[in-house]
Amino acid sequence: MAEQVYDVIVIGSGVMGSSTAYSLAKKGKKALILEQFPVLHSRGSSHGLSRITRLAYREQYYTDMMVDAFKMVAELERETGSELWINCGTLSIGPENDDYLRDVEKALNKVGAAVDTLTNDQMRKRYPMMSYPQNYVGLLDRKGGLLKADCILRALQTVFRQRGGEIRDCEPVMGIHPGATVTVTTSKGSYRAASVVVAAGSWTDKILRPLGLSVPVTIERVTVCYCKELHPDSHSAQHFPCFIEYKGSPPHDMWGLPSYEYTGYAKIALHTGPEISPDTRDQPDGKWVTDRVTAYVKEHFPGLESTPSITEQCIYTMTPDEDFIIDQHPLHHNIIVATGFSGHGFKLAPVVGDAISDMAIGRVPKYDMKPFKIARFKTAARL
Ligand SMILES: Cc1cc2nc3c(=O)[nH]c(=O)nc-3n(C[C@H](O)[C@H](O)[C@H](O)COP(=O)(O)OP(=O)(O)OC[C@H]3O[C@@H](n4cnc5c(N)ncnc54)[C@H](O)[C@@H]3O)c2cc1C
Repeated sequence: MAEQVYDVIVIGSGVMGSSTAYSLAKKGKKALILEQFPVLHSRGSSHGLSRITRLAYREQYYTDMMVDAFKMVAELERETGSELWINCGTLSIGPENDDYLRDVEKALNKVGAAVDTLTNDQMRKRYPMMSYPQNYVGLLDRKGGLLKADCILRALQTVFRQRGGEIRDCEPVMGIHPGATVTVTTSKGSYRAASVVVAAGSWTDKILRPLGLSVPVTIERVTVCYCKELHPDSHSAQHFPCFIEYKGSPPHDMWGLPSYEYTGYAKIALHTGPEISPDTRDQPDGKWVTDRVTAYVKEHFPGLESTPSITEQCIYTMTPDEDFIIDQHPLHHNIIVATGFSGHGFKLAPVVGDAISDMAIGRVPKYDMKPFKIARFKTAARL
């Protein structure tokens, strides 16, 4: 029997690889996902029960993409008969006249979003569990909320499989051999495809180097903290929004979500952490991160115990400008690179997956992909 040639092999079963594979299957293409760990593992960036979603972006191109991302999550809900997000709103917090908040408001208004601009007094009235200095205001993106992250990942993979897609897990990719038909070798065998998508998160540089390309990403270990409510139900999604306090970098944003994965514990994190290698992520440094969160909660959330009761780890793959890298390999155009989702990719994954799947099958994506080109970095090296 002739060896099967897939339309596309996707390396990585995180939310980007899974969204890409889902889109490919819906476009009638035969795709294979190769994953080094057991699927739904917690060693990368896509695990966990919740993520923030929002239309509210400073950059208009993300806000435009988010309009479609919400529609695509609704479609996935219909396909799987499951509820995949909670519409509790996402609040951007900052000093009044802050450039960031103004740009976000502009982008939201351009897409006709439902926005509440809250003075400090209005913010305190609506969210009495928050306390920010008098010159701080809020911008409530009413469309925002909490994505049920694990459920979304599972839903994407389920539909992919139902439509004939294959997932091979516990099978690390060892090499990619370019050509008109690309051969991918793993710990267990080799597979061929017309094109390959490298959606390997923090491991992408390691995979690309033998192909003569290095991507300028740094890997950070982020500690997610869960702080206990002093009064039952005070920080549930009925009362408490997702929030982001934009501070720039450094001192880095703070973000949080209502209590969801652990009833009675709000989820709060600092948008950075110690630089690590994805293969040695568990080294016990980074107490400064929980210290920062503790101080922040003490200052702004009087209804929470400031010392986190539970902490969890996840990894960010950061680009220097925090925009994504989604592009063809400069020499091998049927190898697509998708990495550097910089701690904010989950909500955009359905749209990103649609765009990558188009690139992988030679179609032009419907989104402006210029902000995501590798060549914008002088440090991206052809080795
Ligand atoms: C703590 C935290 C909070 C976040 N909060 C938000 C949020 O609120 N909103 C939001 O929109 N985004 C958020 N993000 C960002 C978002 O989760 C990520 O951008 C997204 O999950 C990145 O997905 P990925 O598929 O690129 O990477 P990953 O999920 O890491 O997937 C890459 C996969 O490739 C596999 N792989 C690697 N090498 C190989 C190999 N050689 N062979 C086979 N498989 C391989 C890995 O095992 C992994 O499964 C957050 C991220 C973290 C860590």
